[in-house]
Amino acid sequence: MKRQRIRKTIIFISFLLFPIIMWYFSPYLILQAASEHIMNGSFCVFVAMFVFSMFAGRVWCGYLCPAGGLQECCSRMNESPVKQGWRDKIKYVIWSIWMVAIVVTFILGKNDVTVDFFYMTDHGISVTEIYNYIIYYGVLLILFLPALIHGKRGACHYICWMAPFMVIGSSIGRLLHIPQLHIQANKDKCVSCKKCNKACPMGLDVAAMVAAGTNGNCTECIQCGACVDECPKDVLKYKMIWRKE
Ligand code: SF4
Ligand code: SF4
Repeated sequence: MKRQRIRKTIIFISFLLFPIIMWYFSPYLILQAASEHIMNGSFCVFVAMFVFSMFAGRVWCGYLCPAGGLQECCSRMNESPVKQGWRDKIKYVIWSIWMVAIVVTFILGKNDVTVDFFYMTDHGISVTEIYNYIIYYGVLLILFLPALIHGKRGACHYICWMAPFMVIGSSIGRLLHIPQLHIQANKDKCVSCKKCNKACPMGLDVAAMVAAGTNGNCTECIQCGACVDECPKDVLKYKMIWRKE
């Protein structure tokens, strides 16, 4: 429980910092920078997310993402689990089109390749001008509405442009047999109380995954540990796993 209080505090602070850090997650600025052959802040952050996920899966989403912080506040207004299935695939379509656009823009771009982490930011701060608040609140709305309408972390499930980096990164980590953080379950101890389902900020059916032995492979799990901390029977625990299969 203490861990969840710390996690929620960190992720809420991250959300409060969003006006300062927003451009470092921008799907648009990376395109603009690519046209000038510049590796900008969001490029560096997305590469770091990808590499980190090889070892830690989607821990970023569970502990640090400002959009996650916003949506966890929103879950007080709608705490129903989102409908999954094909809707979870929308984010991969968005991501694929965006990736192609970045590559094409880079190929057509000009200048020598340079790195400018603070590209298009004033002294490293994202929202410094009044009209940028229109963009800021627009982005908040894009992230807020899916969670408000569809339920827990709706934007993470359906439209997040960053989640595919981590899903692909953790799959590559698994293929390369890199030791990776997982939520491990001992299904024999489970009493099907479903407290884990209620606690899960992604609205996942954790109890069903434990029964089926599939929770370690769930690409929508953000390794937040809420189920670990809520389970009365200590069924679930964090573990670094080195898969050889
Ligand atoms: S909270 Fe624990 S015991 Fe209850 S359903 Fe989930 S895994 Fe099983
Ligand atoms: S399954 Fe557990 S660790 Fe994964 S998102 Fe849900 S509560 Fe967090």
